[in-house]
Amino acid sequence: MLGLSVFAGAAVAEPLAKDLFGAKKLPAVAAPEAFGFYSKGCFAGGMAIARDGPHWQAMRLSRNRRWGHPQLITLLERLSREAAQDGWSGLLVGDISQPRGGPMLTGHASHQLGLDADIWFTPMPARRFTDRERENVSAVSMLKGDSLYVDDRKWTPAHEAVLRRAAGYPEVERILVHPGIKKKLCDTVRGDRGWLGKVRPFWGHHYHFHVRIGCPPGSTGCRPQDPPPRGDGCDKSLDWWFTDEPWRPAKGPAKPKARDIMTMAALPAACRVVLDAPSPPSEMAVTLGGDGTIAQASSQAPAPDLPVLGYQAFDPASVLSAIPGSRVPRPSSRPDLQ
Ligand SMILES: [Zn+2]
Repeated sequence: MLGLSVFAGAAVAEPLAKDLFGAKKLPAVAAPEAFGFYSKGCFAGGMAIARDGPHWQAMRLSRNRRWGHPQLITLLERLSREAAQDGWSGLLVGDISQPRGGPMLTGHASHQLGLDADIWFTPMPARRFTDRERENVSAVSMLKGDSLYVDDRKWTPAHEAVLRRAAGYPEVERILVHPGIKKKLCDTVRGDRGWLGKVRPFWGHHYHFHVRIGCPPGSTGCRPQDPPPRGDGCDKSLDWWFTDEPWRPAKGPAKPKARDIMTMAALPAACRVVLDAPSPPSEMAVTLGGDGTIAQASSQAPAPDLPVLGYQAFDPASVLSAIPGSRVPRPSSRPDLQ
């Protein structure tokens, strides 16, 4: 009797989703699919971008956030190559996602679907960084001091060019930058300005820009974000960022961050399947290399006890459809995401 009352009072703590997803070292072997929303979801069939390519270097390797939906990873390879033609020496690739997405142990509210990538505003140097440098080298803020405005000694035509190139891809729905950078573009971009509408002002993002692609075809469990408003965005909505309001500290006690309290119950049901799915035989087997292909997928036979790569062996959606009442619920409130 005594034991029972004790148990009734102490609910067993649900593990946090960030701890479960943060512990995964490799992606879920499955058809590539994103589940949920950018700030509340996960993905299967993840692919890594190699540490080095001809026109990129991945930074902060210890975080193991070089993972994304194959559509994003291949787009980054393409961007690195095409931006080089525009005069951007190469991409320093920051955080993409954890191997299976989900909330992160630190940083970022979004980046959970493998559809978001941070690219440094610092162009790639001609030499290769050491692993140590990739941990420690600081990105350079594009702003003048602690002002809201871009430092013209740092801003170059190549900065505009790499943003223009990224915004030009139809898969890219949004590029998040600091309001000062948006303003610089509004003031200086000549010719076609249609792409400016995708470039959205947001807090942070003066050391890096954030590329977000839309829900990929086939990801029926991915909830799209509303498209950005029409027009180039160089209007009153931008003026707001240059008032005090967005920069005032929040009143009252700090609310806990969503990622610090989120359990699996907050995520789409498919994310449980993603969490439990098998891993590929190695990281290299699912890493996009400098030549735009997976390093070993064609040359090395998969281990006999593992499903054949190519992501056909396992389909979380079909597993879920077999579970009654497991339709993915939609969150009732929309996270405030640019
Ligand atoms: Zn970002």
